Amino acid sequence: MTNPHIPLDQKILGDIYSSHEAMDNLEILCDDFGSRFGGTKGEKLAADFIAAKFAEYGLTNIHLEPFDYIGWERGEVTLKIISPIEKEIPCITLPQSPPIENLEGEIFNIGPGAPKDFDAKSEQIKNKFLMTNSELYPKGIKRWVHRSEKFGRSLMAGAIGFIFVNHYPGYGPATGGIGQEGEAAPIPGISIAKEDGDFIQRLIKKHGSVKIRLTSSDKVSPKISWNIVGDLPGTEKPDEIILMGSHYDGHDISQGASDPASGVASVLEVARVLGKHARLPRTIRFAMWGVEEIGLLGSQAYVRAHADELSQIRFYLNMDAAGGMPSKDINLHAWDNLQETFEGYRAEMAQDFAIGQSFHSASDHYPFLLEGVITGGVEPVRQTSSGRGYGHTKYDTVDKVTIRGLRDAASLAARIALRVANEDNWLATPRDASAVNELLNQPNRAEIQAYLKKITVFHTTK
Ligand SMILES: [Zn+2]
Repeated sequence: MTNPHIPLDQKILGDIYSSHEAMDNLEILCDDFGSRFGGTKGEKLAADFIAAKFAEYGLTNIHLEPFDYIGWERGEVTLKIISPIEKEIPCITLPQSPPIENLEGEIFNIGPGAPKDFDAKSEQIKNKFLMTNSELYPKGIKRWVHRSEKFGRSLMAGAIGFIFVNHYPGYGPATGGIGQEGEAAPIPGISIAKEDGDFIQRLIKKHGSVKIRLTSSDKVSPKISWNIVGDLPGTEKPDEIILMGSHYDGHDISQGASDPASGVASVLEVARVLGKHARLPRTIRFAMWGVEEIGLLGSQAYVRAHADELSQIRFYLNMDAAGGMPSKDINLHAWDNLQETFEGYRAEMAQDFAIGQSFHSASDHYPFLLEGVITGGVEPVRQTSSGRGYGHTKYDTVDKVTIRGLRDAASLAARIALRVANEDNWLATPRDASAVNELLNQPNRAEIQAYLKKITVFHTTK
């Protein structure tokens, strides 16, 4: 028996794999608009460009949803070793680092930053600059230890500053936000290249201690950003929504080509081909989120503003950086009971992708996940890397992204979306508050939940 979705699959795949549009869009987003970092001119130009593309592709209900937040602007920064030698070290401040004048202190190097090391060495961290690196999996740790966790644990141990050393040679410093909920961080954070981190470690080894002085003139001020939304309206049940999205802001030091623009270009491509070829019973809503990089601010604003409509969302597929991911898999965010449905899709699609069952809190699916919405993402399921590579460095540029990568991400997402849009029943029952709570407190998350609880108390009592 021929599956009814196959003729539509063939149209959209033929269109995607014979069109250059996805790469053209990626080049415009990155080469014309730059980083699109929150508060830059390019950010608004990108938002307007995305809305115009939605219109060109035949979507309806196209609009920009503004939201307020505390923005951050890079200024000048000087990092100087003042003892045992005098030497200036190139560095960048991390977004939401507060301005600081002549802050002096010793460096304590904790290496990759395993949580147990922070606990065991808190006395040595106190009143010093904590130095750690960007490895995601410190030795013996099976889960990601994200930069924000290393920063948070430094704060709780009483560090006066945070030095994030890129663990890859040749890529320079690696950026990443350090604020909480869009607020400026209470202590400054900077990043340096691996080579400079190694130099400082040799100095510490040889002389016992290294003292530095830090001055920076970054600015923190209220700003406005926008989520961009457009619908391919359902022909039978327009109120039932399949949501797909990617953030469009990159970090200010780079083009953010892979993270996130390859995700934006892939979502735009899905909008283009489904708009052109598909009439689906349920609505596909496309959303591009603002200001993800300093705290998922756009997707959080959407979840707050649309609280009463979240129960209409049957599935959210997150496409952050999807076109640049080393493999295009479907990661379901701990929805074991959807495994069989997606294995069925995979067999029918005759497309080779892995189906994962795990989640993290570092992208725009997370505010939806916290509200119980069924979420997944186009993400690599078989993690083999030790970190982001050139991601979050100035080398995340257009030349690293291939048209094949954009096409593969778009075709996988389009084929999944059209299948979910044709399901008469819910894929699963969305989680209620107690099910979300249970998920967050399952044994392999216990350590991170305990830390999050501590840091929340830390922030509210400070
Ligand atoms: Zn991203």
